[in-house]
Amino acid sequence: MTIETLKQTETLISKGSPADSLVFILSGLAQSLDDNRQVALHNKGDFAGDSLFSDRSTHYLNVQALEDSIAARLTCHDLHNFLQKDQTFALKYQEFFNEISKIRREQIAGERFVNKKKYLALIAHNNMKCSLMEFCSMQSNKLEQFPLIATGTTGSLLFKKTGLMLSQKVASGPVGGDQAVGTMISTKNICGVIFFRDPLSAHPHHADIEALGRLCDVYQIPFATNPQSGEAILDYLLSGKAERELIPNHVLEVYKQGQSKVVEAS
Ligand code: PGA
Repeated sequence: MTIETLKQTETLISKGSPADSLVFILSGLAQSLDDNRQVALHNKGDFAGDSLFSDRSTHYLNVQALEDSIAARLTCHDLHNFLQKDQTFALKYQEFFNEISKIRREQIAGERFVNKKKYLALIAHNNMKCSLMEFCSMQSNKLEQFPLIATGTTGSLLFKKTGLMLSQKVASGPVGGDQAVGTMISTKNICGVIFFRDPLSAHPHHADIEALGRLCDVYQIPFATNPQSGEAILDYLLSGKAERELIPNHVLEVYKQGQSKVVEAS
């Protein structure tokens, strides 16, 4: 084991370097950084770099001294020697690091939480809001079976007029709400869109409305723009057929293959 004296801001562990050593803070203070985001503070008595302690992995965080500090560095080689000499220590080590790995796995799982919910999006232009409310009142039994998401004003009216509860609400359409639903299509969080568009008025956010429809085509998301197609979508989604993906998404596959070639070629 080696003892290192560090000045404030000096690096103890570099992201990407072999994870074949860990550091034990004997005095001072250090921080773990994921790019520039602080993810942990290490006080006197704490370990840093311990979660991957193996010469087959690389550190995934930078560790930097926040003040002048002293640290003891233990390499895999040092540890191997210790373990061979002292069986009691070997067992204690195993217990200690199993516990640390368990905590780290839970932390990482928490940080990488992915929302797998598939929402049904409800949107209506101002002149179409009455129609959407009527539609939702008539179809409330079916709509209740989905986690619902709506744009700002549509969402507020929906609860007031029909009592239907939303799982999530995004901004009003003209100020980004349609784009927010589009983003959720790209993250596979939308199972269908019912968007009663006003075909007889101009809209300042025309480009966003177009973009939302385009993303529905890219990802093969059912997109209904009037009560009849809205009802058809609900019946289709509730039939479970959507899960079976009957027709392969050729354009998306071809696009992805093309993009892989771009990466390979460069
Ligand atoms: P709104 O947005 O629900 O906030 O009115 C709908 C839209 O115009 O896209």
